[in-house]
Amino acid sequence: MKLAQYVNGKTQIYGLLGHPIEHTLSPVIHNSIARLVGHDLIYVPFHVYPEHLQQAIQGAYGLHIQGMNVTVPHKQAVIPFLKGIDPMAQKIGAVNTLKRTTDGYVGYNTDAAGLRRSMIQKGIPLKGQTVLILGAGGAARAAAMMAADQKPKQIWISNRTIEKAELLAVDVQKFYSIPVQAVSFNNIYDLLHIDICIQTTPIGMSPNEIKTPISDLSFFKKLDAAVDLIYNPSETIFLKNAKQANCITLNGFGMLFYQAVQAYEIWNELTIPEEEQKKLIEIIQKEYID
Ligand code: NAP
Repeated sequence: MKLAQYVNGKTQIYGLLGHPIEHTLSPVIHNSIARLVGHDLIYVPFHVYPEHLQQAIQGAYGLHIQGMNVTVPHKQAVIPFLKGIDPMAQKIGAVNTLKRTTDGYVGYNTDAAGLRRSMIQKGIPLKGQTVLILGAGGAARAAAMMAADQKPKQIWISNRTIEKAELLAVDVQKFYSIPVQAVSFNNIYDLLHIDICIQTTPIGMSPNEIKTPISDLSFFKKLDAAVDLIYNPSETIFLKNAKQANCITLNGFGMLFYQAVQAYEIWNELTIPEEEQKKLIEIIQKEYID
């Protein structure tokens, strides 16, 4: 369908705030969902520099923009400009979804639910498992709170800047009474038992595909499952090595897709039928990821 056929005076506007923004797949996902469910809306990327974030939020409200996603580097910085924040986003300390209300935007974090949904679909349960999270940035915070919420046996967090891993471990334990400990990158090889490793750093992401955060391949022998939040490339070296060691592997595309679905559901107060979601994820994955 041509753009002119679906943008008219009643079309509602949604968008994504980020910097940089050029490589985002979010418009493809949201505009595909809108076409699928027959909504008169359009989702566009907005390139917002950090120093213009407050103006962007105020301007978006003035322009009657119904909802927005927020990506790097604005997920934490946007919080002071919101009217409210939902409890999971509060725990994580970052938002990726804004919904328009009568007197401002309310923030949500759908990254956590997106990752959980993607792991469930792949048959990677977290309950009773020992989980190692690589990284302690925004995505790691979502992964850690989500994992803690699923009653794992234990969580380890490893990060280049160990203080950030220690802080995240403390933050998780404010909300969940499970053992959470920081471990330095060098010491992860000494951990005796890990079931699932969730890789949340950008190491190995295009155009640096030849990099990997785990150099010792024997590490993968103790794992059942390896999850990488990167989806470009669709199989990082981290995931290739895990697959060779017979681990279940999962890239970040499912997380991206399901966080978008949940954001769309929050904005429009509806549930997108499972069958429709399944059709859509297959089409988009084939066209843009594989
Ligand atoms: P972030 O807040 O900037 O955090 C980046 C993390 O990676 C930090 O812990 C940082 O360590 C670590 N790191 C970065 N470069 C490193 C290097 N060269 N060596 C070692 N550690 C390094 O970013 P984020 O928002 O968490 O995003 C992280 C990744 O997740 C990105 O690849 C992003 O695309 C992906 N992601 C995917 C989805 C999805 O839907 N699939 C959603 C969100 C994010 P320090 O603390 O030491 O700096």
